[in-house]
Amino acid sequence: MIRDRLTHIQASIGDNIQLIAVSKTHSIERILEAYEVGQRDFGENKVQELVAKYEALPKDIRWHMIGHLQSNKVKYIAPFVSLIHGVDSVKLLHEINKQGLKNNRIISCLLQFHIAQEETKFGFSEEEASTFIGGPEFQQLKQVKLCGVMGMATFTEDTNQVRREFQSLRLIFNHLKTTHFHSSEAFKEISMGMSDDYPIAIEEGSTMVRVGSKIFGQR
Ligand SMILES: *Cc1c(COP(=O)(O)O)cnc(C)c1O
Repeated sequence: MIRDRLTHIQASIGDNIQLIAVSKTHSIERILEAYEVGQRDFGENKVQELVAKYEALPKDIRWHMIGHLQSNKVKYIAPFVSLIHGVDSVKLLHEINKQGLKNNRIISCLLQFHIAQEETKFGFSEEEASTFIGGPEFQQLKQVKLCGVMGMATFTEDTNQVRREFQSLRLIFNHLKTTHFHSSEAFKEISMGMSDDYPIAIEEGSTMVRVGSKIFGQR
């Protein structure tokens, strides 16, 4: 089942878009099923679970931290995490930099933006991010590599609204790219799209989709 669903999604999104298989709550055995058909990028949203799975699974897996990350937990994932998607505060960026130094690693991050109508979603506003990136403090964060942006659309049946929210993230990306990152090769990712909305996200310029239930079934 996992095998069929995964190969179907891989084929439908094509080679230019990265598929992050969101394995939160699912067992080691189920992750291995996906691994065996070639999937190497997996996403988790809880630090403890991410560390446990990292320890138990093959070391060529690239682990993505996709959930809200508390500063005091960065130290547990800093030695191995491949990409932190949900960076939503300056404080967190400083902590990631500090742990990057300790581990002698440059840690790749995406800035999370608040694009949904829902109150509960974390993230920067474009203005906040732009001010920070343009300022002197950001230049000090040598162990942080900003690779792009991430966002979550509102949970709604209204596909026009979802599309508009993805468009707004794409615009934020474009603005940041031209203003601050025109010479950065790393700054190129737009992480948007989940099981229910990834086809729309791709139409609106997503470079990375984070798909869980469409691969692993309901949690
Ligand atoms: C759980 C989760 C996903 C995947 O959700 P599905 O609807 O199962 O595809 C994607 N992104 C984030 C941030 C998540 O927490």
